[in-house]
Amino acid sequence: MTSSISAHRGPLFHMIADPAEVGEEASYQYWEDGLLVVADGKITAAGAYSDLLPTLPEGAVIENHPDSLIVPGFIDTHIHYPQTEMIGAFGKQLLEWLNTYTFPTERDFQDPKHARRVARVFLDELLKNGTTTALVFGTVHPESVDMFFEEALERNLRMICGKVMMDRNAPDYLCDTAESSYQDSKALLEKWHGKGRLLYAVTPRFAPTSTPEQLAAAGRLREEYPDAYMHTHLSENPAECGWVKELFPQCANYLDVYDHYGLLGKRAVLAHGVHLCEDEWKRLHSSDSAVAFCPTSNLFLGSGLFALEEAERHKVKVGLGTDVGGGTSFSLLQTLNEAYKVMQLRGHALTPFKSFYLATLGGAKALELDHLLGGFSAGKEADFVVLDKRATPLLQLRMENCRSLAEQLFAFSILGDDRAIRATYAAGRCVHKKD
Ligand SMILES: [Zn+2]
Repeated sequence: MTSSISAHRGPLFHMIADPAEVGEEASYQYWEDGLLVVADGKITAAGAYSDLLPTLPEGAVIENHPDSLIVPGFIDTHIHYPQTEMIGAFGKQLLEWLNTYTFPTERDFQDPKHARRVARVFLDELLKNGTTTALVFGTVHPESVDMFFEEALERNLRMICGKVMMDRNAPDYLCDTAESSYQDSKALLEKWHGKGRLLYAVTPRFAPTSTPEQLAAAGRLREEYPDAYMHTHLSENPAECGWVKELFPQCANYLDVYDHYGLLGKRAVLAHGVHLCEDEWKRLHSSDSAVAFCPTSNLFLGSGLFALEEAERHKVKVGLGTDVGGGTSFSLLQTLNEAYKVMQLRGHALTPFKSFYLATLGGAKALELDHLLGGFSAGKEADFVVLDKRATPLLQLRMENCRSLAEQLFAFSILGDDRAIRATYAAGRCVHKKD
């Protein structure tokens, strides 16, 4: 049997549990002089260089990464690839922002050439920022998903995407129907779910843009394909929440709309959840659904401050989302920066270990992919990032002044962005190298 073994030497760090559950000390592993061993796209060992060196077969190539920190690839649990070109659009809150900027931009994705071009830029941007897996919105057009998956397949990335389902309260040019959205989603799911490392998400945009018939059709897909994902938005903005109440007066709360149509459960990821009541938190937990915390978006669109401490109290799975283009950065480091400030305003300190947990293993758990992603245990897929301690003169100076791993992690999360990503690897292969 032939297999290609490669090894990466440098400071090596990964999370093995949620520090909020097991305490900080038991939540991570760190080797100051570490070695990550990769064969056939998977991790075969991670540990101290001196321990693992004797186990390497003769002739194995070791790549050295001085002045770095090697961490698992970042996981973005909520992002819209068609909004790449409208990131940073001025001055509106959610509903007006969708009508003014988002919908006209998404119209262009009926053209596969346009969709492919943006998908390429988008994937390059993710990898440049150290993000190796993302849960991604397409547009209503099936072509948008085909183009995205074709590009992701070519790069052998673990990506999740879906065609938006929306049949009301949007311009005609972006509306499907309950029946066509069901058929189109089903055809895409059959075509892409499980192909290479790709996975499909049933994707109703959010409750206000789907009729009850369409939500029922999404529920049918959930039933027929229980191992596919469900990806939508939840309780982002106060005006939106009021609107949902008007549209679905029979439902007890916003989450109950999705619950009613059978859309919750494992592999259901709901973005935002900024304005939730106690019952909704309890139901998120009991249904085993996950929430994507999107701080740069929540601040940019003035949506509110996510209650991470409530998610912890109710044991609800949380991943981080950049929510580009409502979010303002592709970088999960910058997303952690804003997450820290959101928590400060709520009177809580987001610790560096919890931050890196959210960006890696926590995201993997939210996606039910922690057996494959989010850490360095043997058998996981070799998606990892080499962070650069000398990325900028300021970061270098700050790193020299750090007295602990926690301080280094924190400096990366506050000062780091795409410049701090020296290299990104997917399934063991280098997919981005700075300069
Ligand atoms: Zn979003």
